[in-house]
Amino acid sequence: MKFCGKCGNLMTPRKNDGKSVWYCNTCELEEKTTKEEIKISQKVMNRDKGIVVVKENKEALPITDKECPQCGNQKSYWWTMQTRSSDEPETRFYKCVKCSYTWREYS
Ligand SMILES: [Zn+2]
Ligand SMILES: [Zn+2]
Repeated sequence: MKFCGKCGNLMTPRKNDGKSVWYCNTCELEEKTTKEEIKISQKVMNRDKGIVVVKENKEALPITDKECPQCGNQKSYWWTMQTRSSDEPETRFYKCVKCSYTWREYS
């Protein structure tokens, strides 16, 4: 799965002229992707229906003691993403170390 670089919302994989792209339903931004990414994303979506899951890049993310709302685990990865314009506060994302549940928090 992928978050929109423009508005921070979840992007969905779709086909455009036979090419696989990420498409943002909110701001209609389109981003190129590879077939491999699409495959991974669909697999994750089927497994965790309705739950936002980010691509596995654990070693790049810092860990904080934020509590997971799903399983109560006290360790979560976190990262931030700027939404819309730069004068708006950035959105903070968390991902549970244990169950991989991912959620966002507005600062
Ligand atoms: Zn967007
Ligand atoms: Zn959890």
